[in-house]
Amino acid sequence: MHNVPFLDLHAAYRELRDELDAAYHRVMESGWYILGREVEAFESEFAGYCGAKHCVGVGNGLEALQLILRAMDIGPGDEVIVPSNTYIATWLAVTHVGAKPVPVEPDERTCNIDPALIEAAITPRTRAILAVHLYGNPADMPLIMKIAQRHGLKVIEDAAQAHGARCQGERAGVLGDAAGFSFYPGKNLGAYGDGGAVITNDASLAELVRALRNYGSREKYVNIVKGGNSRLDELQAAFLRVKLNHLDRWNCQRQSHASYYTSALAGIGLLLPDEADNAGSVWHLYVVRTTKREHLQKSLKEKGIDTLIHYPIPPHLQKAYVELGHGTGSFPLAERMAEQVLSLPLWPQMSEENRFRVSEVIRSAFQEEA
Ligand SMILES: *Cc1c(COP(=O)(O)O)cnc(C)c1O
Repeated sequence: MHNVPFLDLHAAYRELRDELDAAYHRVMESGWYILGREVEAFESEFAGYCGAKHCVGVGNGLEALQLILRAMDIGPGDEVIVPSNTYIATWLAVTHVGAKPVPVEPDERTCNIDPALIEAAITPRTRAILAVHLYGNPADMPLIMKIAQRHGLKVIEDAAQAHGARCQGERAGVLGDAAGFSFYPGKNLGAYGDGGAVITNDASLAELVRALRNYGSREKYVNIVKGGNSRLDELQAAFLRVKLNHLDRWNCQRQSHASYYTSALAGIGLLLPDEADNAGSVWHLYVVRTTKREHLQKSLKEKGIDTLIHYPIPPHLQKAYVELGHGTGSFPLAERMAEQVLSLPLWPQMSEENRFRVSEVIRSAFQEEA
């Protein structure tokens, strides 16, 4: 019996080797490696893909979110509403600009921030809502936008797991005021190193992010703000241009693998992931929930099948955030999800044989239990 990895990053390289190698040679031979033609071309192609006016390539997903917050002049003394159930990078972006993350619990069904609980968390210091499309499934953006408009707040999308996801027909990236994307290798659109992007329809915000990513300068040696260094490089942009052409096909494959799991695993007592209404998830992860998570993960491991937990400790219980004073029990839904979630192997090129094996092992693990 062969092993099933959690994901196989080499599969996309095997599939696109000639195109990726050609992109590599094109950049190497150009003699130009930072902020050049490839980054410009990728920015316009990715903006077009998202249906947005502007894209700014940056160093990674965390910095994409941070640069948006800085460009919105959000900092010390300000509060930003964040999901209690998310990857810690969402919170880190807020604290890195000096603002305070104010957690809101998730909707039980989608695991995304529950819009019904947002208003109770708004104070006079609240400046923005940072919504996450967790696991590739879009947050309830129409409701979130309505609440934000009522209270004069900005809305930022953490779209690091949601390249190509749709909400009421529109792509992640244009559902709020600005969005941060990550091109970490394992994401739906992944580079061969670090990378990220800011997407927005707001021209002045895009201009400011463009300056902030490059020492606060648009014109060489003329600095209009105290910027940093967070640039997407030419090689990664060239690789991303190749892969962007295949993103929709890969997302369809993910969708079809997810439906396979959903029918194969029905009726055995696992809580299966569910798409929100009007939403098109791109299935960055397929996450099941069970009170017998350890038993399930162990049974899979014994058969050589890798799984991961996204995420085992919610941000408010991390040592990094003791200063906020949220103890155990302060966000019980996020805590329960952290105890019950398990991500199954899933990548676009995953074979039917592998999907069958994973499903069979899970079914028999649960039949033994019963
Ligand atoms: C990956 C990820 C990030 C951070 O992206 P990096 O490129 O690793 O900095 C932020 N938020 C979420 C939800 C992510 O999954």
